Amino acid sequence: MSNNTVTVAGVEISTDHFIGGKRVASANRFANISPVDGSHLGDLSAGGKIEANAAVEAARKAFPAWAALGPKGRLPILKKFAEGILARANELAAVETMDNGSLLTGNVHRVIPRAAHNIDFFAEWALTLEGHTIDSPEVVNHVKYDPSGVAILITPWNAPFMLTTWKVGPALAAGNTIVIKPPEWAPLTCSLMADIAKAAGVPDGVLNVVQGIGEDAGDALVNHPDVDRISFTGSTDTAKIIGQAAARSITPMSSELGGKSPFIICADADLDAAAQTVAAQYMNAGQVCLAGTRIMVEKKIEEQFLEKVRGASSHMIVGDPRDKDTRVGPLIHKEHFDRVAGFVERAKADGAVPVWGGGRSNFGDLYFEPTLFADVNPTLEISQREVFGPVLTWQSFSSDDEVVTLANNTKYGLAGTLFSRNEKRAMDIASQVAAGTLWVNCFFVRDLAAPFGGSRDSGIGREGGSWSFDFYSDIKNISVRKGSFA
Ligand code: NAD
Repeated sequence: MSNNTVTVAGVEISTDHFIGGKRVASANRFANISPVDGSHLGDLSAGGKIEANAAVEAARKAFPAWAALGPKGRLPILKKFAEGILARANELAAVETMDNGSLLTGNVHRVIPRAAHNIDFFAEWALTLEGHTIDSPEVVNHVKYDPSGVAILITPWNAPFMLTTWKVGPALAAGNTIVIKPPEWAPLTCSLMADIAKAAGVPDGVLNVVQGIGEDAGDALVNHPDVDRISFTGSTDTAKIIGQAAARSITPMSSELGGKSPFIICADADLDAAAQTVAAQYMNAGQVCLAGTRIMVEKKIEEQFLEKVRGASSHMIVGDPRDKDTRVGPLIHKEHFDRVAGFVERAKADGAVPVWGGGRSNFGDLYFEPTLFADVNPTLEISQREVFGPVLTWQSFSSDDEVVTLANNTKYGLAGTLFSRNEKRAMDIASQVAAGTLWVNCFFVRDLAAPFGGSRDSGIGREGGSWSFDFYSDIKNISVRKGSFA
């Protein structure tokens, strides 16, 4: 058993895999650099086929006993797991901020508590799945949610701890055992998650973590012949690669992918609230899959609304994400910074003009200015492709039909936001926009009982509430002829 660690934000963290309840090191290591200040946080074990095989084997071995506990038997362990997350919320938040540059205040107050809720909520929900029957004239159908087996959970760097618990919660509550593949650009909090699970009494082998590069560790896991579910959150391009592996073994896969979501402002809206919400799309440097990055404003209020957004955006202070006044932290990595800057430069070359921003912020190497391109041609790359940075485009519309066409004019369908005080109009537009989630006069509100996911290039499947259990279970119908028992 290895004991390689790093200390980040005063927290000691293992840099090795967590397999079968033990820390396991690899000879290959990968460097982890903080986007906040460029500091080298440490070198982590980089897994491949050997570690993937060991982790799947450990998960398979632990599966029968974990499944046999049933939802009631798993509940106290998972509740303790959730409590363990809450007890370490400040540490987790501080580490996450150093690791991926997300805002510390948001992590402390919203993101980490939400992660604990992800575990607690699904552990409770699993109880509601027991004893479900459908009465037919001849038979009684007993619907059973059997655990599916070993689930591979792969997550991105923009909110690694929270997004991983969004999968861990229902996967474990449903009785599966799991192998987590954390993102290589922000892996540290998933390592802490393993310690918290172990301390809560999650049995060895039930939750495993294999660190490493997607093309190595991730590839070995999704191509492993003995896995039953693959749950992936990340980019559309990676989903296409993983989807091929899943198809070869007919392994069910859920994918939550990128977006280019519309944000529609009708003239009858509460314009101050709408402007504040538009400016909030710059938070976490726009590295938010659900961000409404295509602003669509009804023509008759366009000038007035632009001034309101300009005012609200002036509060989007770029700076150190540990500072409570900061709203826009760094981009995660130099490679990602260059990608975002490339989109902006090509947009300018295509004739789009930034109304504000448009380049590197004075604050530091990986910090990008909040940027708005106005009057953008909807066919340009900047209007069509996900930038995943603090970059918004602006278009105007004169009719509801026009805005629906504009909104649906990308390959994505993750989310959308709409501000209007007219209920009928709002519901008419909302129901025509292709998106898994449509927020009306609000943004980013997510009830775990509600369905979540994307259409088109934004993903396959829905999770949340019973939709999560539909994915993480093998649903069985035991159909019993009435009166056939002695
Ligand atoms: P990514 O696709 O590059 O990587 C995501 C994960 O996949 C990482 O852990 C990576 O190591 C792994 N991976 C990469 N190649 C792999 C392979 N061949 N086999 C197996 N695993 C592999 O995405 P990213 O850059 O980390 O994240 C940003 C993207 O995630 C954006 O498109 C964003 O919109 C999306 N995202 C979606 C949601 C959602 O809920 N829909 C949430 C957050 C982020």
